[in-house]
Amino acid sequence: MGEHHSLREIVVSGRECGGCTACCKTLRIAELKKFAGVLCQHCTEGAGCQIYDDRPSVCRGYNCGWKRLQFLGDEWRPDRCGILIGLVEKGEGIPAGFPPAGLKFDIMDSPRVLNWYPLVGLISREIERGMPVFLGIPTPVGYERRMVFLNHLLADAVKSHDRTLVVKGLKAVYERALSEATKEKTTFD
Ligand code: SF4
Ligand code: SF4
Repeated sequence: MGEHHSLREIVVSGRECGGCTACCKTLRIAELKKFAGVLCQHCTEGAGCQIYDDRPSVCRGYNCGWKRLQFLGDEWRPDRCGILIGLVEKGEGIPAGFPPAGLKFDIMDSPRVLNWYPLVGLISREIERGMPVFLGIPTPVGYERRMVFLNHLLADAVKSHDRTLVVKGLKAVYERALSEATKEKTTFD
């Protein structure tokens, strides 16, 4: 969650977290010294934050992509689809020559979601229109999640408009990132 501290407000009207607690588990939260992939000690799964009124500012300022992007339907709520969409801004790894804001698709647990056609379609569409797109890959506890820039890697597959090729490309990216899963340890200052 720490990487999103500057992304605030602008939540789609009526879009509530409900029973979702995906960000409280999936993301590293430096302020809480919480590793990625570990449920926050203040969170009750399915019920939410137990220190809501006193939660850290980074939590107050965070809203996932599903809450912020009108065009995403209910099926995209992270606990339903297994993907946590984040917004990536300038200075967060977007290569030169690309627009200063893009999307990150964090796989929460299982890579099976890479077969989900709405996901494949959205990734393809964003790449096709030149927006920066990243895939976030889970790692063992204590290591930084891998974040892979997809636009160049999937350019040909997307251009072909063959979704099976895009799925194949996504799986290859995932496998490669897994082989580097213990490359970067998480440290808290
Ligand atoms: S991932 Fe999104 S919907 Fe789920 S708890 Fe976090 S902000 Fe709410
Ligand atoms: S403090 Fe609350 S909102 Fe923040 S990660 Fe923990 S449970 Fe979630």
